[in-house]
Amino acid sequence: MPTIGSYSIMRDMPHASRALRLLQHVAHLVKPIMRRHGYYIPRLEEFYRQDFLGLTESVVSYRGVKTVTVVKLTLRDHRDPYRFQPIGQIIETFLHELTHQRFGPHDKRFWRQQQIHRDEFAHMYGLPDGWNVQYEDHDGNGRPKYSGRYENWPGWSQVPFLY
Ligand SMILES: [Zn+2]
Repeated sequence: MPTIGSYSIMRDMPHASRALRLLQHVAHLVKPIMRRHGYYIPRLEEFYRQDFLGLTESVVSYRGVKTVTVVKLTLRDHRDPYRFQPIGQIIETFLHELTHQRFGPHDKRFWRQQQIHRDEFAHMYGLPDGWNVQYEDHDGNGRPKYSGRYENWPGWSQVPFLY
């Protein structure tokens, strides 16, 4: 069973081939988590929006079964499309969108599951315990309060980076 059906990038944007390699690389790093949970993404797409880092689209059948159709990830800097987001930021967004395979709304169950995926990722790549220390602080819904910039997280320098 494949984990991702197809990839698509924005061909009119600069460095399109690099964008495709980046998208495939990020997916490669996250695939073991997808396999473990039985997640499947028919189409993984690059998109470029000011207001979203990622988006999951799904359809609901007449029986009420939700099926994810597309996951979209912003790969580029919001201000400069020639620059890519830090890979840690993209992976973080990917793990968030994966969590939507199980939970739609951003409720407590959602944030708990997202944290499980973060921990799995950290464990898989040997990231130090402190890498997600900023998630100890949560708001009333269990949503983590972010602090600092993703590229400064201690763990990211240890993630396999070549793409
Ligand atoms: Zn979300």
